[in-house]
Amino acid sequence: MLRPLTNPITMAIPVKKEAPVATEERASVFGVFSATNVKRIAGGLLMFFFISAAHGLTPDEQSMLDWIDAHQDEAIKLLEETVNIGSGTMNHAGVRAVGDVMASSMEDLGMAIEWIDMPPEVDRAGHLVARKGGIGAKFLLIGHLDTVFEADDTFQAFTREGNVATGPGISDMKSGNVVLVYALKALAEAGVLEDIPIAVVFTGDEEKPGKPLEVARKDLIDAGKWADIALGFEGAITTEDSDWATIARRSSSSWILETTGTQAHSSAIFSERVGAGAINEAARILSRFYEDVRGDYGLTFNAGTIQGGTTVTYDSAQNRGSTFGKTNVVPSTATVHGGIRALTPEQLAASKTAMLEVVADHLPNTTATLTFEDSYPPMAPTEGNRALADQLSQINEELGRGPMKIWDPLRRGAADIAFVAPYTDALAGLGALGEGGHTPHESLELDSMGLAIKRAALLIHRLATTSNTNQ
Ligand SMILES: [Zn+2]
Repeated sequence: MLRPLTNPITMAIPVKKEAPVATEERASVFGVFSATNVKRIAGGLLMFFFISAAHGLTPDEQSMLDWIDAHQDEAIKLLEETVNIGSGTMNHAGVRAVGDVMASSMEDLGMAIEWIDMPPEVDRAGHLVARKGGIGAKFLLIGHLDTVFEADDTFQAFTREGNVATGPGISDMKSGNVVLVYALKALAEAGVLEDIPIAVVFTGDEEKPGKPLEVARKDLIDAGKWADIALGFEGAITTEDSDWATIARRSSSSWILETTGTQAHSSAIFSERVGAGAINEAARILSRFYEDVRGDYGLTFNAGTIQGGTTVTYDSAQNRGSTFGKTNVVPSTATVHGGIRALTPEQLAASKTAMLEVVADHLPNTTATLTFEDSYPPMAPTEGNRALADQLSQINEELGRGPMKIWDPLRRGAADIAFVAPYTDALAGLGALGEGGHTPHESLELDSMGLAIKRAALLIHRLATTSNTNQ
């Protein structure tokens, strides 16, 4: 169950404003105070506290929240429908089919819908993009259509038990997609969507991005360059008695270290002619990475697998290899495949330079090369992102949940929003509350959908309103 984070009874009483007040919207987020319960006990002291807690809401916002309460079940139906369409990244037809469902649910909003195909060599389904014009701050809303569960996986269906539903991609991130669309619907129903310029990008290959990334992420990046504010709808985080905002995500790159040495009888190792051997050179480098490069907050690197000997095969795509070597032969080759994560582009660049410097410092009669492959860039914790989190935190409080803390990016993986973060303010984690992503136990707390839709709709509305008054 979605737990209330702030006891409304003990909350400080904010100044009451003229605007009509929220009563039922907090009902859905407080399990114990269902909408009907609140109505039944309305009129007393309790109602006063509920009213007071919702002081910031305008009539438009109130009508949005009412609409969301009335349509949460409809949103869950859309979630069920899309979860029941298998859409593993390589199941192109499935990804496209989920895109079709999301497209038709956005068509009524007056958005121009476009399916962007990828060139055949990228071998991905493509992306769904929906756009509408307007004035003021431009919003980019990001979701993804694919899941990690391919067509041959046994985990295929939506099943519900009370408030918890399980299904492939239910948390990562079909619920987020639905939250995104229902936030737009709520804005439209309240009559405040029309003026807001919006691009929605649902990528079709978030779980296994197509290569080259310049092609597979071009449309997302273009949308990021256009936007002023990017919002990512992957799962929200509620833990340790708090809701958490995601203003930063670390990058994800991989590296391959290849060393060579002079193959010879082991009796001659360390001699001027034979030198140290390929495996000692690899060990030197890894040890220096650990001693000299490690330590910066936000930077981690991992040597994931190592092969060394006189004959080595390694397939980096399959992360699989074989080695042959003998205890009495100096090894001629070693291959190490690893990963690296950083918090900012500067940190990533500086770490790569430091690693390359270590590599260049060879042991006798060895060579080494280090190559990097970037997958996700970092989404750095900028002041702009922090300001978005402040707004969301305030909204969260008005919804009776208490302030949001800033989530440590070391505790979260990379995401598509990072591709646009260099060009726009960005906030991630606007989806619903789930767990077990990428496992056959992936589940979602269904009553967190309404809360997530409310947070997103209010955030977009307020940011749009502020940007328009500032013009
Ligand atoms: Zn995922």
